[in-house]
Amino acid sequence: MSTRAAQYPAQVLRREQLSEHFVRLVLGGPGLAGFVSTGVPDEWVALTIPGQFQTRYYTVRSWDGAELVLDVVVHDHGLVTEWASGEVTGQTVTVSDPRGSFAMPAGAGWLLLVGDLTALPAVARIIESRPGVPIRAWCETPGAALPAYVAGDAEITWTSPPPGSQSATADLVRAIDWPAGDGYFWMAGESAQMRAIRKHLMREVKLPSSAYDVMGYWRGAPASGRRTRPVDPGPIWRAGKAAGQSDEQIWAAYDAAREVGDG
Ligand SMILES: Cc1cc2nc3c(=O)[nH]c(=O)nc-3n(C[C@H](O)[C@H](O)[C@H](O)COP(=O)(O)OP(=O)(O)OC[C@H]3O[C@@H](n4cnc5c(N)ncnc54)[C@H](O)[C@@H]3O)c2cc1C
Repeated sequence: MSTRAAQYPAQVLRREQLSEHFVRLVLGGPGLAGFVSTGVPDEWVALTIPGQFQTRYYTVRSWDGAELVLDVVVHDHGLVTEWASGEVTGQTVTVSDPRGSFAMPAGAGWLLLVGDLTALPAVARIIESRPGVPIRAWCETPGAALPAYVAGDAEITWTSPPPGSQSATADLVRAIDWPAGDGYFWMAGESAQMRAIRKHLMREVKLPSSAYDVMGYWRGAPASGRRTRPVDPGPIWRAGKAAGQSDEQIWAAYDAAREVGDG
């Protein structure tokens, strides 16, 4: 049996500008007929744009059985960034089966969420899934805050990256006044910062690995010139969990899989 995830061809039905840096792509068409949500609120798909074989990962903002919504950050340059900046309506893309990793333990009494703009679709979906505990979120956006983007009950702090920096979500985490008792922490953003945050959670905050999920969503161009390739974290995460690895071991394997070598 093939272990390859199913692929679904889909048409871009609409493109909407949500903010200066954020573009909504509404996908649809008969090719999505077999697409089924996992129900995990941070679920993502691999997106392949026309004429490409490389994929990039995007959170399923919503899927109503007919329309699949992906919200794409348009940053300085990049494969999907440049494509999504143009007129894409009517074009055919491919998406994979969705996968998710958010797994709040049953006994959690609070939920903390942190992310940059790439994480906002997942943060919004997690909040909208109403997990039944008090939620505190920190959302970093390069432009104005987007309160209308998130429905549901959560105390949200909107921040901007400091001048000259693409993202500083790690600083937000180091300033957190942690609630008492058991809870769950979810975060996504730039990979090097996420690695530092996993260490911080383990060594300083002393959270058990079942109490957090910290995902590297993108990697800033490193000064060393090392290049990375996009890798689906889903299979690595599941294989690591099945092998009883810690989250840090799993994400180290994920980071290693993304290394291409010196560029
Ligand atoms: C599970 C998962 C879910 C994700 N969900 C979303 C989502 O819903 N929406 C979303 O927009 N992104 C999401 N991402 C992140 C997205 O896949 C990456 O940002 C991706 O690299 C963008 O592809 P690109 O073709 O535009 O740029 P690439 O061609 O991959 O990169 C080009 C250059 O841009 C830099 N770069 C890449 N991303 C960023 C960024 N965000 N900000 C600044 N510089 C960047 C890279 O360092 C590189 O130098 C998700 C990633 C994962 C792993």
